[in-house]
Order: sequence, then structure tokens, then C-alpha cells
Amino acid sequence: MKRRDFLRATAAGALAAPFLPNLLNDVAKAAEPTARWYKGNLHAHSQWSDGQDLPEVALAEYKKRGYNFFAFTEHNVLQRNDFKFDGKDAKPFEGETSYWKRLATPGVRSNLTEDRVRKARELFGEDSVVLKETAEGTFVRLKTCEELRQQFGDKENFLLMSAFEMTTPWSHLNLINVDENFYLGDEKIGGVISKSYDKAREMYDGTGKPWLFMVNHPLWQYYNVQASDLIARPEVRFLEFTNNCTSYPFIPGAWTPESLWDAVNAYRASHDQDFLYGTGTDDSHGVFNTSFVAFYGWTGVRATELTPKAILDAMNRGDSYISTGLELDDVTFDGKTLCVKAKPEKEGKWRVEFFGTKKDYDPTPKYFDAEAGPKMNRRIEGYSEKIGEKLATFDGVEGSYTLKSDDLYVRARVTRVDAEPVYLGTGKDKSPLPTDAAWTQPYRG
Ligand SMILES: [Zn+2]
Ligand SMILES: [Zn+2]
Repeated sequence: MKRRDFLRATAAGALAAPFLPNLLNDVAKAAEPTARWYKGNLHAHSQWSDGQDLPEVALAEYKKRGYNFFAFTEHNVLQRNDFKFDGKDAKPFEGETSYWKRLATPGVRSNLTEDRVRKARELFGEDSVVLKETAEGTFVRLKTCEELRQQFGDKENFLLMSAFEMTTPWSHLNLINVDENFYLGDEKIGGVISKSYDKAREMYDGTGKPWLFMVNHPLWQYYNVQASDLIARPEVRFLEFTNNCTSYPFIPGAWTPESLWDAVNAYRASHDQDFLYGTGTDDSHGVFNTSFVAFYGWTGVRATELTPKAILDAMNRGDSYISTGLELDDVTFDGKTLCVKAKPEKEGKWRVEFFGTKKDYDPTPKYFDAEAGPKMNRRIEGYSEKIGEKLATFDGVEGSYTLKSDDLYVRARVTRVDAEPVYLGTGKDKSPLPTDAAWTQPYRG
């Protein structure tokens, strides 16, 4: 058993240990930090980029709804006072570097309108929003990540990490828990992912801070990330598996988030490489606007404390799950058997399914010419149905699967079966994943 798997199995064993009425054991237990699930969203926008809310308004709502960790991932900008942009709607004033954004009339969805300022004042008081009147209009000072951390941070329950979304025409990538941003382009998606990963490693390794690199919304109207792009860079460990904001072109038979994920992990498991783990986000752009769905996406992370290191280490170990509205109560893996139990808030009938890929799978992709995506026609990889095939099904909220000798890995999904699944979004651009579902990470022996 590899060291990381041993550690995982040990952690899982400790969590699942039965009660032993033995004093020594109790003492050992008391000294051992207890792991718990934390719920977080690592993809969101505010007025710092194209989100609708002032950041404190969005953050208050996430905290109220029980999220424990959070990152604003604004397009190509960190939320801090080093603003240099002097465009027409946002600019620094003489002698300081705050981000002042011009108050605008409604029209464009992300305009900073009076009612957005009013909402913040209702919640936090008149003085909470600082305005400057100028001949060019009224400007609103945006709060920095550090100011937001002071306002909302709570050692036990709420962690805010500094982050940004590197946004290029070829790919969107989230860099989490970082204090410097960068921008890189390339002619190909695989190239921009690969170069950006190298750049991130060069910039952030050695800073003493853990950081996370995530490939966002792999398929959307402007581009598509292929499994081959992620197979080419085994160091890339995180894929945004759910994103409730992005438009997905309809490509029958070609692409699902699950088939892409399985195609990468089948390859990685058969080449003794680290898994690609999935994250759940809602990429929120406005917490009160129903066309930008918030609170249906999160990553559940099991950690012993709420620090960037504990959360990101747990994510790197794969001690996490993906959700579109369903909480998991427990996930254990002892090196052979994956057990999962969900904790639905809603009444209903539930199903646990296990998926995996066998060692003799066919890795050859098929290619689909996408029926005109909104922005381009393109070829998209599709994968053999034997990649990510169903291995077992259980009615109810719990189930388990023991790896067989020909399995490369196993992962579980819990869904609701007594109601028509809801796919967020509109028209043909709906999310490909149903709400009220959760996915474990993959596990192998
Ligand atoms: Zn994006
Ligand atoms: Zn985004």
C-alpha cells in the first residue's frame, strides 16, 4: 500500500473506530484532533469583477447558509489595494490604491447599482459603504479580502482565502490561497493549462503557503478541456466538476463531467499517478439573482481544523466530496472497501451508485463534432462506455463496494430518485448534473 493510501486508510479507520471502554484508549482519543466536515465554495464573483453583489453582501449570505470556507475568484484580479487600472468605470484616486467602482444605472447585469449599495447598508449600516462624489460620478470603495476576513473570519467556522480566476479565451483556472496573480496565454487549452501550472509552481512553491490549482468549467460555450489535456499534466489535481453558472453546449453522446473525469482517472490509476479530484462550486455571480444560481454547489472537506493548510491538505489527500445540494455524512475507505452514507435534509428516495473502470479498458477516445456551440464548432473527445461503468447500486442513503482484482478504482454517487432531477440553468445550456446529488472522490487499493 502506498504511503498516501495508508494515511488515508488510517484516517478513515480512526474516524470509524468503534467505541472501546478502555481508559488508555479514551486518553489517546482525547489527544487526537477530531476531523469534521467543512463546507466550502471555491469559485465566486463579486463587484470586484462581473459579480452583482458587493463582496460583503455575498459573503454574509454564504456564512449564514453554513458555508465554512470560501474564496472570491475574481477574473484576473485579487481583492487587494494595489489597484492600477484607470479605465472609465473603476479607478484609483490620487495617493492611494483602493478599488473605487463607479455607481451605474441598471442595465448591464453586473453594474454596481444603488440598490446593491442599499443592500449592504441595510445589512451593515450606513457607514459600511464608503462613497466618493466626483465630477465623473459617484464611486464606491470595494472592500479588500483582508478587510472581509476581519469582518467575517471566525477561527472555528469561517475561513476566507485569497484567490483569483485566471481568465483567458482558452481556459479559466482558479488559483486558491495565493497573494500574487499572473496572466498567461497560449494558442491551445492544453498549453495554457500546462504553462499556467508551471508558472504557479514557480511563483507559489517556496512561499510557505499551500496553494491549489483548479481547472474550471471544462466544457462551455467558448472552449472545451479534453481528458488528454489533463492526462498530459498529471500534476494537475483538481477539476471543477460542478459549476452551476456556466452554459454547456448540448453535445449528445460526447461529453459529461463524469466521463471526462473517469477518462482521466482511469489513465492515472493505470499509470500509478495521483488522481484528479473533483470540486463542487456554484461560480456564483449574484446571491439574490435566480438566474445565477448560488448555494447548490459546494465541496465538503474533512479536516481537523479550519485553516488553509488543513483544508488544502485534506483536498490533496482526496478527503472531500462534491455536492449539488446533498450532504454526505460519512465516507470511509480502508484500502479495499468504499462506504458512503448521505444525510439528506429533504424527504425522499435516494440511491447510491458505485462507478469505476476495469484494468482492461479501452482508452481510445472517439471524436464528436459538436453541433454548433454558441461560439465555435469543434471536435470533442468522447470515451468508451466501459470507462466509468456502473459497478453496484443500493437503494437508500448508504452503500459500500469492495474493490475486485480487475478494478482500477471506485467512486460513489448519491442521487434522489423519487423526483424528476432538476438541472440548473436554462434551455439547452442547463448544467449536465442534477441537483440534490453528491459524489465521492475516486479510491483505489
Ligand atoms: Zn470561469
Ligand atoms: Zn468564474
